Amino acid sequence: MKITRITVYHQDLPLAHPYWLSGGRLKFEVLDATFVRIDTDEGLVGWGEGTPWGHTYVPAHGPGIRAGIETMAPFVLGLDPRKVLDVERAMDLALPGHLYAKSPIDMACWDIAGQAAGLPIADLMGGGSRTPKPIASSVGAKTAQETREVMERYRQRGYVAHSVKIGGDVERDIARIRDVESIRQPGEIVLYDVNRGWTRQQALRVMRATEDLRVMFEQPGETLDDIAAISGKHAAPVSVDESLVTLQDATRIARDGIAEVFGIKLNRVGGLTKAARMRDVALAHGIDMFVMATGGSVLADTEALHLAATIPDVNCHAVWACQDMLTLDIAGGRGPRNINGHLHLPETPGLGVHPDEGALGAPVASYEVSA
Ligand code: MG
Repeated sequence: MKITRITVYHQDLPLAHPYWLSGGRLKFEVLDATFVRIDTDEGLVGWGEGTPWGHTYVPAHGPGIRAGIETMAPFVLGLDPRKVLDVERAMDLALPGHLYAKSPIDMACWDIAGQAAGLPIADLMGGGSRTPKPIASSVGAKTAQETREVMERYRQRGYVAHSVKIGGDVERDIARIRDVESIRQPGEIVLYDVNRGWTRQQALRVMRATEDLRVMFEQPGETLDDIAAISGKHAAPVSVDESLVTLQDATRIARDGIAEVFGIKLNRVGGLTKAARMRDVALAHGIDMFVMATGGSVLADTEALHLAATIPDVNCHAVWACQDMLTLDIAGGRGPRNINGHLHLPETPGLGVHPDEGALGAPVASYEVSA
């Protein structure tokens, strides 16, 4: 089987509510999404998606995905998409780094490989758990009262996992954490996500002031060096997501004990092929995981769901469904959707959901094997 054509679509995905990142970064109202269709000489078609969470969150640029695919396409065309390692190496040779540009091609290849094998991607990867995965909310509110209101809205829709965004103001963060813990319900999973919004002294002040609550924080500093520097000076478990980019990051975190949890972001780390290695490093070192797309539609959420399904249930805390924050549905309601706060693994071979091509507009680029 050979890849004969790569077709690229660009679609802005509007957010239901504008999103403000902590630390004074710019707000954004749409996500710049790239959808990739891969055609093969045997008629199978695979789809991938690359959607950064805005351009100011982490180094990932929507138009950069399309430019990266233009550079990599000549090296990917003609390869067998079922041989995902061959495709990965071709992309890494053609364009070192730029992992977020590689992720949609990797995803489309896994989609085709699953269809060819007659298996959902998770089963093709070795076996997928059918336990529904709790979806983590994204609570970006500012005040304690707003936080309560946003969490309650998510609870009404069945959510039992919450990612409460904090950072930037020590006293306000402490007050919000104490308030959320006072209304936390039995069985609820709450992660306090700093999104790199603290300096080292701010991190230590909040983490020490809330030690009695035994809560967990995500990305409490800008870099792995920052998080490592405060490790051992507080008692809280830590998740790292934004600074978990390469396999070398994963092994450093595991070896040096920098964090107890990985937040694996599929687009951020370059797709399923590379993320699966991080999963194995985590499992080998007693590190639990959250799995999510970096952003995007039901396609990106489904990719994350497949990886999450390959993690033992006890080690996978939650996934994320960015689709719930969008006002445009490019798949007409198909694919895994929020059912009482959980996503269910699709049973159809491959990814299990494809977009409506009509919802994507005209392709912005197409690359073909020359005759
Ligand atoms: Mg996070």
